[in-house]
Amino acid sequence: MPELPEAETICRQLSPLTVGRRIISVSLREPRILRCPIDAAKFRRGLKGRRISRLLRRGKAIIFVLEGARCLVVRLGMSGTLKVEPAELTTDKHVHLRLGLEGGDELRFRDPRKFGCLALRTGTEVEAFPEFSHYGPEPLSAAFTPSYLAQRLKGRRAKVGVVLMDQSVVAGLGKIYADEICFRAGVRPGRAAGRLTKKEIEKLVAATREVLEEAIGDRGTTAEDSVYQDAYGLSGGFRPAVYQRTDQPCIRCGQPIRRTRLTDGRGMHWCPECQK
Ligand SMILES: [Zn+2]
Repeated sequence: MPELPEAETICRQLSPLTVGRRIISVSLREPRILRCPIDAAKFRRGLKGRRISRLLRRGKAIIFVLEGARCLVVRLGMSGTLKVEPAELTTDKHVHLRLGLEGGDELRFRDPRKFGCLALRTGTEVEAFPEFSHYGPEPLSAAFTPSYLAQRLKGRRAKVGVVLMDQSVVAGLGKIYADEICFRAGVRPGRAAGRLTKKEIEKLVAATREVLEEAIGDRGTTAEDSVYQDAYGLSGGFRPAVYQRTDQPCIRCGQPIRRTRLTDGRGMHWCPECQK
């Protein structure tokens, strides 16, 4: 599932291809097909004729800010991709939204597994949009500090690997980067969040920044169970150190990587030697 680095990559790649262009047609394949049902008529009316002013990212979501104070919020879900393609290029049944852009291209949202979401919002106060109102700070912002994280972890019995995926604590992390951040920080993801030391919390915050910046530099991660592609149809170049490497040797110490199953069936991956 695309997380912050994948959404950031798509955002950066699509900006030069879309900003300044006007949406001249809106083609919605099946308004009820996605997880968030949309009012098709309102959606078409709200988008058509508007120029794309800029692109933003919040957590794992990509936001097209349009002239006239409208925002198209795209959440990629499990398998969503966004690409700008020539209008004459054939599409398939998984392309749910096609926005015809001035000049002949189409911005296409494709999502075979249909866990993605599209929403059209009024205003440009992104923080106030319902999907983001409960979100914590961006992990690469100045607001994500060790003292902030310490305050949010205090007294919590939940596993630190799980708390890092809580969007209200910090926005944009999922299972790939929660595992990678814990490994980089040398902290076992199964530790009770409230029992971490000040030093460990400092390491987690520093590791978060490092891992995310590296992953953005590598255009994200395409894990074994993922179909993530960037806006040019390429796989991400980031190579996880622990995620989905169960029983393979740790890149630091050679010990086999372990997987601990969570109650919801997801696994956390970690090194028994390098993480305490
Ligand atoms: Zn190790």
